[in-house]
Amino acid sequence: MLLDTDPYLTRYAERVRGMSASEIRALFAVASRPEVVSFAGGMPDTSALDMEAVEAVVAQVIRDSGATALQYGGGQGRAPLRELLVEVMEHEGVPAHADELLITVGGQQALELIAKCFLDPGDVVLAEGPTYVGGIGAMTSHQADVRHVPMDAEGMRIDLLEEALDGLAREGRRAEYVYTIPNHQNPAGVSLSVERRHRLAEVAERHDLLIVEDNPYGLLDFAGETFPSLRQLVPDRVVYVGTVSKTIAPGLRTGWIAAPGPIRDKLVLLREAADLCPSNLTQMIVESWLRTQPWREQIKRFAAVYHEKSVAMLDALATEMPEGVDWTVPSGAFYVWLTVPDGIDTSDLLAKAISHRVAYVPGRGFYADGAGGDHARLCFSYPEVARIGEGISRLGELLHEEIELVAAVYGDDAPQVRPRRTGPATGVGG
Ligand code: PMP
Repeated sequence: MLLDTDPYLTRYAERVRGMSASEIRALFAVASRPEVVSFAGGMPDTSALDMEAVEAVVAQVIRDSGATALQYGGGQGRAPLRELLVEVMEHEGVPAHADELLITVGGQQALELIAKCFLDPGDVVLAEGPTYVGGIGAMTSHQADVRHVPMDAEGMRIDLLEEALDGLAREGRRAEYVYTIPNHQNPAGVSLSVERRHRLAEVAERHDLLIVEDNPYGLLDFAGETFPSLRQLVPDRVVYVGTVSKTIAPGLRTGWIAAPGPIRDKLVLLREAADLCPSNLTQMIVESWLRTQPWREQIKRFAAVYHEKSVAMLDALATEMPEGVDWTVPSGAFYVWLTVPDGIDTSDLLAKAISHRVAYVPGRGFYADGAGGDHARLCFSYPEVARIGEGISRLGELLHEEIELVAAVYGDDAPQVRPRRTGPATGVGG
């Protein structure tokens, strides 16, 4: 429904009026057809789980503790789960105490509660550019002014972050927080270098900054490496977000926040206002999984599956992409960030891509300010290895055609020939 034909428009809260589903959402309905190779949704390969083990865990929870599992629970989440999640964090070298944790409905609810806790309309948040679609949505749904800090192969440019902070200070303003995904970033597929983590921690001290450290992918490093967390470096300044979505399964909708005590208390109150408490049933399933299953080995298996898929994608990109197309090389998780030549707009190209039976998320979805038209996110985690090459070959063919078309129509004036749209695409990705 178009906004100006919505008869309820004048009734909505201010923050809701500007919200609309992107036209891209409709295209994704087509992209989910089996003949399309979709690199769009950031979906884990749940078929890599041992389903018999899952069945046994779920049955055991009901058999042994059915009445508790089906009852309400506390707003902070179950203590036994919080203790087990501390072990998951430890596995990555992130220190925490179970008291500091709040269980959420995935990392997404965590990001929303944090935005609600800290952001008034117009407040500034500094976030990597590009950044996670759902992170942008959580912040902009509270009418935040999301400003981007560019990245390179070593993650967020901390020198440019400082510039942005100085600029805000000159305006007499500050950033409410910095939102970062330091490990195997969604969508850029790069990690913040160790040196920059230390610099970010120093900058946070110097500018009295709060950092939201969103870490769904840290355990999915292809070489099994882990990096120092920001929480480890400046614990009093970090609100940390974790999730089991990428290490066990997103259907469990279980995530968590680790935060300093006063912040945790506010977040518990906000969550109780939103949904009372997390599901005991899913919490107990996660508890039982972590207690009885070889979860460290399972995560290693996931990382190996994704590594193999990343190699399939990178090999195909190297052989199929035309001159002028560039991409990042991930060392973990799910994503490759593609850059196409000037004159091609990935939002405009998506419908054609889908008719070529391949889908991606246009780069614009990952910016709050309408930038990103020359990028696309390719997620390799979900399609079968055998289909990845096929999908990249279709995309390569389309980009060859498109580059020829731009050159034929515009000759040497090709760059910047197409009008850039403004405004981010919302409601896509994962
Ligand atoms: N943060 C990032 C960076 C993500 O990529 C995602 C999901 N794709 C989430 C948070 C939220 O995931 P979930 O709610 O499933 O934990």
